[in-house]
This record gives sequence, C-alpha cells and structure tokens, in this order.
Amino acid sequence: MPVGTQGTVKTAAPKDLHEAGAEIILGNAYHLYLRPGHTLIRQAGGLHQFMGWDRAILTDSGGYQVLSLADLRKVTDEGVTFQSHLDGSHHLFTPEKVVEIQVALGADIMMCFDEPLPYPASREDASRAARRTADWAERCHQAWKEGPPGPNPDPALFGIVQGSTYPDLRKENVRRLVETDFPGYAVGGLAVGEPESATWEIVEVCAQELPEEKPRYLMGVGYPEDLVEAVGRGMDMFDCVLPTRNGRTGTAFTSQGKVVVKNAAYASDFTPLDPECPCYACTQFSRAYLRHLFNAGEILALRLLTLHNLHFYLGLMGRMREAIQQGGWEAFKQGFLAQYRRAEGGPESQRNQI
Ligand SMILES: [Zn+2]
Repeated sequence: MPVGTQGTVKTAAPKDLHEAGAEIILGNAYHLYLRPGHTLIRQAGGLHQFMGWDRAILTDSGGYQVLSLADLRKVTDEGVTFQSHLDGSHHLFTPEKVVEIQVALGADIMMCFDEPLPYPASREDASRAARRTADWAERCHQAWKEGPPGPNPDPALFGIVQGSTYPDLRKENVRRLVETDFPGYAVGGLAVGEPESATWEIVEVCAQELPEEKPRYLMGVGYPEDLVEAVGRGMDMFDCVLPTRNGRTGTAFTSQGKVVVKNAAYASDFTPLDPECPCYACTQFSRAYLRHLFNAGEILALRLLTLHNLHFYLGLMGRMREAIQQGGWEAFKQGFLAQYRRAEGGPESQRNQI
C-alpha cells in the first residue's frame, strides 16, 4: 500500500497510482482528523470521493502517530490525550473515537487503536501495552459492529498484534485478538530499531498463531528484500513510506538494487534508471537526465522517482503473488535476493538506518 498520509500519495495523482498498479492505498486517521477534519471529509462523501480515488483505502488508527508525533501525550486505559503537533490543541483518542473517525472517512479497511512501543521496551511495559491493545481491540470491535454507518456501507476492521520482541506476549496477544474475531490481522510494533533477527522471529511467531485464511498485514516494513523475507514467512500486506519518501530524496529501488540518482557516476549515464522497468520514468528518461533534475532542484524529479519506486514495489508484490500461484516461490526468492543483494554490495539490510 502506497502511503497517502494527508489524503494524497505525495506527488502522485490517482491516475499515476493506477498506472503503477496500486489497488489499495493507506490514509492516516490522525493527520486527516487534525486537518482537514473527518467531519469535513464525511461531508465530501468520504475520503475516496474527496481525493478522487476509486480503489480501496486502508486507514490506520492513529496509535502510532499519536505516540510518536503528538506533543505531551498521556496514555490511560481509557485512551490517549495529546496535543496536536500542528497547533497544540488538546484531543482525546479512545478506541470508540478512532473507529468513529475511520467510519467518517469511509475506509474499506479500518484499524484498531493500539499502543505501539519504541524499542527496547521492558517486559513489564510490553505486557501492559499488549493487554491494553487487546482490550482496546474489543472496544473497537464493538464500536464497529454497533456504531452508525458512514459513507462506506461495509468497512472491515483489522486487529493489531503488539507485544514488542517477547514471543510469549505476542502469542498471548494473537490468541486474544483471534477470540474477538476480526476479518484480518496486523503485526505492529516492529521495524522500530530492533535487530533484524528479532523482527523475523516475531513475524514467524505471529504467522504461526494467526488464522491462515485471513489476511496478515505487517505494518511499516520495509525495504524490497524485507518484503520478500516477510512474504516467505506468511505476511500478505504491507505499507511503507520508503518508495515515496526515498524517491523524493533521490533514491531509486531497481531490479539491480538501490540507485542514488544524484551520484556523479550517473552524470553522463544515458541508460534507463531500471532497464527491466516498463514505467514512464524508465521508458522516457535517462539516469543522466534524472540526476540533472535533482541537481537543478526541479520538482519533476520527485514525481518521476516516486512513480518509478511505486512501480517497482507494486511490481515486486505482483511477481511474488505470481510465483506463489505457480508453485515457484523458493526459486523466485533465491533469484531475487541474489540479484538484488549482489547489486547492493552485501547482505546487510539498510532497514534500521532511517
Ligand atoms: Zn521505472
């Protein structure tokens, strides 16, 4: 899912997202609640109508943003009180409130309110946050089932698994969420600075416990090689700002690895950014031209690299689906990682360096 924080995937119009192959995008409840406000978006007929997007939208619940962006927050079992990072105004998010906001936005998939923790977290803190997250999930479930409808007649609601890097807390948390029974489940609170081995251990623990027939969404991950590793461990859905954010700062993800377009090495490189990519940026322009646009501060550069990176990420997900359907997953995974990492210059993931 390309990330459309403020009701837009930065630099990309909906028709660009169609062309890149996006079927679903992510919107941020916290940002849209603060500006322009969920009631205004509801008046507009919902977020799809407001932003001119005719495919699916998943909205996050704001838990992560409230705990990482907002000023002066206080977490209790009731919810989180915080001050807006925009104007300092005071707000209270409860599980019921974040469902109300997401219903007003008209999301196709809504997320439960959760309490993600930074890494490292003590066992005591992780246990309390996981228990609170499961309690909040029950309240969200009730608000979803019993609350008034919004612009979307039949939104889904996903539970979010927390429990930091403690496998037993994660297992217990999954059991409680599965008891409440959601149409899909997300694994949250990862890719926050923990060692890569801990990420995959927790993903494996969650994948074993989650019901096989329901979608599993790994939140906030990651680099292309991370997506391949995660799919191999049973994850289905992802959101990440990397393709768009890194595109705007001049990094392209290509079939041969990362390309930092601004590098002097590309000054007179008239080959395409990614010779294997059929996107507009790769078929129409050269690396030398893209480098020139970045160096000259031209905004077309941001747009073209965003388009390419989205195309690459969504194309990668499509190729993974195809490999699984055709029974060729292992061969695909080995082939991709060998080619991608060889070009990166080593097996080290860069995921924790941002
Ligand atoms: Zn391309």
